[in-house]
Amino acid sequence: MAFLTLDNVSHYYFSTTGYTKALEDISLSIDEGEFVSIIGPSGCGKSTILSIIARLMQQTEGHIKLKNEPLADSSLNIGYMLQQDYLFPWKTVMDNILLGPKINGQITDQTKIHARQLLADVNMAETENDFPSELSGGMRQRIALVRTLITNPEILLFDEPFSALDYVTKLKLENLVAKLMETYNKTAILVTHDLGEAISMSDRIFLMETAPGRIAKTFEVPEELRNEAPFFVRRHPKYQPIFDKIWKHLNDDMSDENKGVTTDERNN
Ligand code: ADP
Ligand code: MG
Repeated sequence: MAFLTLDNVSHYYFSTTGYTKALEDISLSIDEGEFVSIIGPSGCGKSTILSIIARLMQQTEGHIKLKNEPLADSSLNIGYMLQQDYLFPWKTVMDNILLGPKINGQITDQTKIHARQLLADVNMAETENDFPSELSGGMRQRIALVRTLITNPEILLFDEPFSALDYVTKLKLENLVAKLMETYNKTAILVTHDLGEAISMSDRIFLMETAPGRIAKTFEVPEELRNEAPFFVRRHPKYQPIFDKIWKHLNDDMSDENKGVTTDERNN
């Protein structure tokens, strides 16, 4: 059964002088427990899709269903994690994590125990009394992940969460996130600029084209790669062929301006 479906979703941004058609006829469906990625040039509408699924704004046209219910009517939690961690600097790690449940009036005796369990899951057990400024970028993203998971979201949305991190930290976090999503059987959508990251973390990849943002092509990641940790996917014999196949389409669809961005990634 499809867990999340988008049917002919289009989105316009209106201004006093005109409008931008950011998304055109996006249709896709994601199964429970599936991990999918969205890749494509800057401005193709990746963040717009995630903001709509996160219910931060409503699509101009089309229908979205989560667990067979219109998304707008559903009260299910949706987790959203961005490149910037948005931790409050004046609050400790634990207080940052408990903020969501507190605002939602969902704090129980179990909440702190759950928070400690999640902190241990991301190897941050000793940090609950630390302040964000005492932590590295990678550690802060792990806290942001715990803060997202504590609300027990039905689906996790990741908008380039690793792109500000150094390469080694990024690889470690990819492994950790992939492991956690599998352990807790979470459904996830990752937006990334990094094709290697998309292949190594996902079951399927949606490639978008721009102006207006549309899904140009969908790729299935080979079974053998899906069962490997992201770090090992990159060394698997099946990795390079799928990389080259998607890479070819990326370059066909991208403007010259964007080609430079992914050439750097190719060297990663
Ligand atoms: P991506 O995340 O793929 O880089 P976005 O979803 O941020 O793309 O943007 C898609 C298109 O919508 C771009 O043309 C962008 O300029 C435009 N856009 C995004 N946010 C806004 C906004 N708040 N107001 C007007 N236009 C926007
Ligand atoms: Mg974006």
